[in-house]
Amino acid sequence: MIPLVEVICPHCGARGEVMLPLLGAIVIGPCPNCHELVCVFCGRALPLRKDIILEGTPTEKREHILQVLRKFLDERVDELVHQMTHEEVEQIVNDADARDELLMDEPDELFLDEPRVLASPRANGDAITQAEVEDFVKSDLPHIDNRHYFKAIFD
Ligand SMILES: [Zn+2]
Repeated sequence: MIPLVEVICPHCGARGEVMLPLLGAIVIGPCPNCHELVCVFCGRALPLRKDIILEGTPTEKREHILQVLRKFLDERVDELVHQMTHEEVEQIVNDADARDELLMDEPDELFLDEPRVLASPRANGDAITQAEVEDFVKSDLPHIDNRHYFKAIFD
């Protein structure tokens, strides 16, 4: 069975399932409901600006994606740091029996819904290339209304 992860569109709130991307993969794709672009990273769908991703320069795209990922990581690290008392860290570092108590910033609870595919996991974690974005715009964008198109390719 293909491992799925449920994500919530940050633009319209629609819930959908995507195939669990490989660890570290950054996946970009359209929401099948509102057609805005999202970036799926570590089980979360983050909002992307379609105008920048489709029409921006490589530098603008890079800055925009980094900004979105940075905001996400900022929040996660903040949560982790807030639950990290000096005593707890000291205990984990010194006590091998405390390994099970490693501090973890757990993702939000997942809810299951109708299967829907927002985007494909990439075969590797490499950055999306300019050519791939152009290919996406040319061949995939006209089909974003048809979610079976994505399913057919990536199932
Ligand atoms: Zn949406």
